Amino acid sequence: MPEPFYRSRSLWLDTVPGSLEPRPSLDRDAQVDVAIVGAGYTGLWTAYYLHRADPTLRIAILESEIAGFGASGRNGGWCSALFAAEPARLAREHGQPAALAMERAMQDTVDEVGKVSADEGIDCHFVKGGTTRFATRPAHVERMKAEVAAGHALGFTEDDECWLDAEAARGRIAVAGQIGAVHSPHCAAIHPARLARGLAEVVERAGVTLYEQTPVQLIDGRKVRTPYGTVTADVVVRATEAWTATLPGTERAVVPIYSLMLDTEPLPSEFWDEVGWAGRETMSDGRHLIIYGQRTADDRIAFGGRGAPYHFGSKIRPEYDRVESVFVDLRRVLAELLPATRYIRITHTWGGPLGIPRDWYPSCGYDKASGVAWAGGYVGDGVATTNLAGRTLADLILGADTPIVHLPWVNHQSPDWEAEPLRWLGHRALTGIARSSDRVERRQATSARRTALLDRLLNR
Ligand SMILES: Cc1cc2nc3c(=O)[nH]c(=O)nc-3n(C[C@H](O)[C@H](O)[C@H](O)COP(=O)(O)OP(=O)(O)OC[C@H]3O[C@@H](n4cnc5c(N)ncnc54)[C@H](O)[C@@H]3O)c2cc1C
Repeated sequence: MPEPFYRSRSLWLDTVPGSLEPRPSLDRDAQVDVAIVGAGYTGLWTAYYLHRADPTLRIAILESEIAGFGASGRNGGWCSALFAAEPARLAREHGQPAALAMERAMQDTVDEVGKVSADEGIDCHFVKGGTTRFATRPAHVERMKAEVAAGHALGFTEDDECWLDAEAARGRIAVAGQIGAVHSPHCAAIHPARLARGLAEVVERAGVTLYEQTPVQLIDGRKVRTPYGTVTADVVVRATEAWTATLPGTERAVVPIYSLMLDTEPLPSEFWDEVGWAGRETMSDGRHLIIYGQRTADDRIAFGGRGAPYHFGSKIRPEYDRVESVFVDLRRVLAELLPATRYIRITHTWGGPLGIPRDWYPSCGYDKASGVAWAGGYVGDGVATTNLAGRTLADLILGADTPIVHLPWVNHQSPDWEAEPLRWLGHRALTGIARSSDRVERRQATSARRTALLDRLLNR
């Protein structure tokens, strides 16, 4: 694909400095110590930490398009401590200390991304302003307060997560109709493509070979097959997130679900005088069909949400990145939350696939016997988690016995998804329940009864 196609994938790829001309492809068989499939954050962080720990390693990354082409170049830019499997569930399945260790590791990871970006001169507009989730319906209040209480029962304090009354919440962002909010300091807003492209440059400068426009057809143990040659390695890292579903042998490991986004033109100071949002914290609200936003460094609002269709057979295609009806909904919700955006121009619309494992539980691991390592299934919370994955995979591959290799997600095995048409039907049902629960909660003050079903289906 030519550079304009890559630029058109997101606001972020459109505005990232430097060329997006692809690097050379693999052109013959090769032998390396570690071959990494996929040049998103997972692949790039893994290469970064492996090289840092052992600069003599020969590392190659094989990417079917260009570095940052996937979710890493298109996301909402929430570098947050959110881990997709919720704390209460981690505590239930692994005990309280393990759950708390996982949460603290995620919190540290937010700072690690900021630190490495600064140390390596990656200007990804990292600002740690925290995150605020608004209760915009009475039913949200009960649920969100219960979540804060559950976090405190686990060992969090008011410094990790706290409830704000409506006045305090308004002091952060003037969201219309809000009746309180939960605030956590453990989140930074970033420009996602600047991080992905910057990391690619850093690892390449360090001596990692990055082959772009090199689609891997098969990971066959320690052999990685492409149309242009086979790479043989001691260790092969699968870092393909949503596209894992397109690789032979892992078709049912994740389902690719699309998240879609839009952004406003840069907004004038009068707008921000009215709305606040001075700390560039990320924002969302308590609805079931997730929405998320950030104020960008150049004063736009980048705003996204779920609700796009799943495509039968886990297909991924560029034309699925844009769904007009979802963009109309996103515009409507944004105008509902921030009425001053109603007549503001939208400059980009885009989307991308994220990977959801059957038990909604991300994992990373290394099987020494086969030589294959993997990380993924981040369920849309991968910006920070990929960094923890990269550090963990480096330690596992190099045999370093560090605290992070004992976290509960390491070597977790998610079950496979069902065969079609069950996956397709399941996704339709889930989206339908989320939408209708939100509709019910517009009218009634308590949580919709069907949210209990949603909780069960999502393993919460
Ligand atoms: C619209 C959107 C908004 C999101 N917002 C947030 C957010 O605000 N915060 C958050 O934490 N997370 C968010 N996420 C999720 C987050 O972006 C991902 O979890 C994260 O980027 C995953 O990184 P990755 O490197 O594992 O995968 P990706 O970035 O998807 O990278 C996978 C790479 O593998 C390549 N590849 C695939 N198959 C092959 C093959 N066969 N051969 C070679 N290369 C291959 C792809 O081209 C791609 O470059 C969002 C995702 C989307 C789509």
